[in-house]
Amino acid sequence: MIQTVRGKIKEEDIRNVLPHEHLVFGWPGIKGEKDNAYDETTAYENCKMRIAMVKEHDVSLIIDPTPIHCGRDPLFMKKIAEDFDIDIVCATGFFKDEDNVLSILKALSYTNDLEAVLCDLYVRELTQGIGDTGIKAGIIKTASSYQKITALEEVLFKSAARASLKTGVPIYTHCERGTMGLKQCELFLSYGIEPKKVVIGHQTSNLDLDEVREILKLGFLIGFDQFSILSIPDIPNDEEKFENLIRLLDEGYEDQILLSQDTIFDRMGYVSKSKPRYPDQIYKQVLPALKERGFEEETLKKIYRNNLLKLFK
Ligand SMILES: [Zn+2]
Repeated sequence: MIQTVRGKIKEEDIRNVLPHEHLVFGWPGIKGEKDNAYDETTAYENCKMRIAMVKEHDVSLIIDPTPIHCGRDPLFMKKIAEDFDIDIVCATGFFKDEDNVLSILKALSYTNDLEAVLCDLYVRELTQGIGDTGIKAGIIKTASSYQKITALEEVLFKSAARASLKTGVPIYTHCERGTMGLKQCELFLSYGIEPKKVVIGHQTSNLDLDEVREILKLGFLIGFDQFSILSIPDIPNDEEKFENLIRLLDEGYEDQILLSQDTIFDRMGYVSKSKPRYPDQIYKQVLPALKERGFEEETLKKIYRNNLLKLFK
């Protein structure tokens, strides 16, 4: 069973999936901005348009791993899910320790056992609901910085692991520009987490394919989930991402790869200079190109649907 913002759903009710897309994303404090305000009507229209695009490819489930304080809004997610009849999973958990995103947690850590506080928060959001919304989270998000895992991030990884062990809910991580995935695996193993319950995210963007192989050899799933991103420096381009994917499939890792794009349907209160991105690239371009290269539907279905569902078993 998978916990969505509309309630629990069964595997047989799920058609195609997108394991890592954001309805809205913004930096902490954006909702208090006056000059550059978040406009929920615009966000709604952006979501409506993009959901229509993915529904053309029979997508019925989107995992939205937007962290707490980064615009995560379970009530908005539920409204979108209900109005457009699509299943959406909301996450619990925090983002990386860069750009002062975690300043509130830093302050909290001076006087509290942060690991215990966060573990309780995650478990509460997964089992009872987020705030007074009555909406439960269905996946745990945790993240690390570019080429480092800070002491604060380690506390967050440990809290995420404890909450996962308590509830059985899987974890989806953020690796900044694809880095630190192997170190994340080492942390999870040291906390007693089974690799099959964790997706090491953004491995599409890892320049070091040997590191990706090490992660896979340990049994973890990987998010090949940043197709079509152009705005991040020092990551493979789309052709390289595609060739890397083919290499990994040829090497037999088809049971551990999840495809997505990491698009943001509406960037809160911020006009991005990068080209707008759309969440149908996997279904419109990547999968047909893989078919052309000779991959069978049975293999492809694992990486665009079944591997995600296994995570929740
Ligand atoms: Zn993301």
